[in-house]
Amino acid sequence: MSDSRRLRIAVQKSGRLSKDSIELLNAIGIKLNIRDRLLIAHSTNEDIDLLRVRDDDIPGLVMDGVVDMGFIGENELEEKMLERAAAGKPADYEVLRRMDYGGCRLSIAVPNEMDYANIETLQGKKVATTYPFLLERYFKEQNVNAQAVMLTGSVEVAPRAGVADAICDLVSTGATLEANGLVEKDVIFRSKAVLIKRTGEMPAAKRELLERLVPRIDGVMQAKESKYIMLHAPKAKLEEVKDLLPGAENPTVLPLAGVDDTVAIHVVSPENLFWETMEKLKDLGCRSILVMPIEKMMG
Ligand code: ATP
Ligand code: MG
Repeated sequence: MSDSRRLRIAVQKSGRLSKDSIELLNAIGIKLNIRDRLLIAHSTNEDIDLLRVRDDDIPGLVMDGVVDMGFIGENELEEKMLERAAAGKPADYEVLRRMDYGGCRLSIAVPNEMDYANIETLQGKKVATTYPFLLERYFKEQNVNAQAVMLTGSVEVAPRAGVADAICDLVSTGATLEANGLVEKDVIFRSKAVLIKRTGEMPAAKRELLERLVPRIDGVMQAKESKYIMLHAPKAKLEEVKDLLPGAENPTVLPLAGVDDTVAIHVVSPENLFWETMEKLKDLGCRSILVMPIEKMMG
């Protein structure tokens, strides 16, 4: 199936990774005709098909070569890799890029009232999780003999329900833990979304398409972090102004019509300009300080 002419990309159908993954595909110029109930979406301008599935299925689809690429959380990817390796199934993939979204951590959390010193406190106890392979690997590394209890949902209620003594679940703000009377203790895995690719041969046309898409992803990610900064600066303070602008070794300096002591400065900054820096620029006599988003970058 994967040797078909069209590049197949798997994305989460609906969940925390869906919106950002689709937005990224749009930003790199792939036009998609997504209909909510359909599993597959065809691109109208590139030889690309989008497979919209549960995130649990994405690592396997890539590792079995059913799709060419997929956007997936590293937590899910690593878990499935361990699970498949344990079952003797192929578990190969290649990470093309680590994305700037989907950030979370897999943490061990215990009920407020538990007298927890360190991970050894869990010796002989049960820990509920959706990620038994990652958790067991951690227990092994820490020489702790505890039992991972697999639950696919509502992990945070397991201690209250008497199913386990503690939990190991994904956390981003910690609000869910707090609402369930749990305290985060050990972070066992830090995750972001990644774009992965299947291993093995690929027809030339598909490979070329993929090689065209990856630099575009870099361009979009780079642009998100960068700003286009414009300002009017007193000529006499040019060096001090340059020192304040991030990444502005060689800014564009332009004369202003009819004004001799002021120049316009344009610079692409690799990072945002903080209010504090803008205030310092103003104190140096700079005016009309503009910080603008950049949509795309190349070269
Ligand atoms: P599906 O129905 O596709 O199986 P799901 O319920 O397993 O969805 P989501 O909750 O949508 O998955 O999370 C998908 C991924 O988003 C997680 O595996 C993780 O990589 C990432 N993520 C980012 N922040 C969080 C968070 N606070 N809680 C859970 N997952 C998060
Ligand atoms: Mg899932």
